[in-house]
Amino acid sequence: MPAIKPNRLLGDLYKLRTFGTYKTGVHRPTFSPEDITARQWFAGRLTEAGLVATVDGIGNILGKSPATGRKMLSGSHLESQNQAGWLDGALGCIYALEAARAIHEAGGDNGVDVVVFVDEEGHYGSFLGSKSFTGLLQEDEIDNARNRYDGTPMRDALARAGYAGRPRLQIEPERYAGFFEAHIEQGDTLESEKLRIGVVTAIVAIWQYGITVTGEQNHAGTTSMMRRRDAGLELVRLLSAIDKRFPELDGPRTVWTTGRIGLEPGSHSIIPGRAEALFQLRDADPAVLDRLHAELFKLADDATRAGPCKIEVNVISQSTPALMDEWLMTALDTAAERYAPGRHIRMPSGAGHDAQWLARKLPAAMMFVPSIGGISHHWSENTSDEDLVLGAQVFTDGIAEALKG
Ligand SMILES: [Zn+2]
Repeated sequence: MPAIKPNRLLGDLYKLRTFGTYKTGVHRPTFSPEDITARQWFAGRLTEAGLVATVDGIGNILGKSPATGRKMLSGSHLESQNQAGWLDGALGCIYALEAARAIHEAGGDNGVDVVVFVDEEGHYGSFLGSKSFTGLLQEDEIDNARNRYDGTPMRDALARAGYAGRPRLQIEPERYAGFFEAHIEQGDTLESEKLRIGVVTAIVAIWQYGITVTGEQNHAGTTSMMRRRDAGLELVRLLSAIDKRFPELDGPRTVWTTGRIGLEPGSHSIIPGRAEALFQLRDADPAVLDRLHAELFKLADDATRAGPCKIEVNVISQSTPALMDEWLMTALDTAAERYAPGRHIRMPSGAGHDAQWLARKLPAAMMFVPSIGGISHHWSENTSDEDLVLGAQVFTDGIAEALKG
């Protein structure tokens, strides 16, 4: 059985935290100087581990194993959200590296290739790195990509980083038995249930809607309560009806969010004539999504019929859940039971990850370690050293287990 080296693992994780340190977390946006330095450092670590490392034309990194037997692909992302945590993405990259090292050191013909997908955090687009690697990204999408905070064209950032003009690496699906990604949970399920490992069953689908309420703009002082058609009030009533009705139809982990509400014209003394909301629904079960989708439209229709405003719901996007591979999940279950008996569960991922794109090309699996307080996308994000070490051992063991075939 491969044995990870805790000091080497923690040393690499702590080292990565020095690139763009922000309080106890990191600020390492895609193609920032700190991000580029981190990529160079990581590629160097791959080389030291005996892998053949390449940074490609979009900033993805691949470390290829010289092993002649069965191979797994594993990795995550290196950049962070702004002023965010030190483990989101970094953990999956260092776990993949440690798994490659430990499996190599254990001897045998099997190996692990390590991959780093650029811009998972979406500073320039949506999953551009994993889409590029899986052959789902066209050149014109890179031409059009701009940094969402300062408008820098992605092409300019690639040129500054020295990656422009290099070919983009494409996955060789026949080379791999599967893909493994480790990640912090970013929620509090594991911690609150005193569990140490989560084996991901599916990455949730995200369904997004625009809700528009049309009423009548009028004077807030002279229009009687009886006569007014207040679009803002009607929107709030609908959102309240959703919150009352959805729990009767949802699944155990369904979540819904109103991320933005806008009133027009938006003034003290004017009754809003128009109200808009961005609404989002997440679940891993298509049947649950269908049910809530139908109910959303029904509640809007009912409200329009009851008056006095008109409510329209538009679908903005509907993704499909990415299902993880049963064989790879079982390999992780087996490894988790060996090192944390009775303290692991299967659970869906409520957040998106690169693994959802890899799952289109390879059998895929994801493993979670606990997040202290469930905090993520914030500089205080953290996981105990004990959980970091245990997680790496389970992850490595799970890969080794699956490599046996
Ligand atoms: Zn992440």
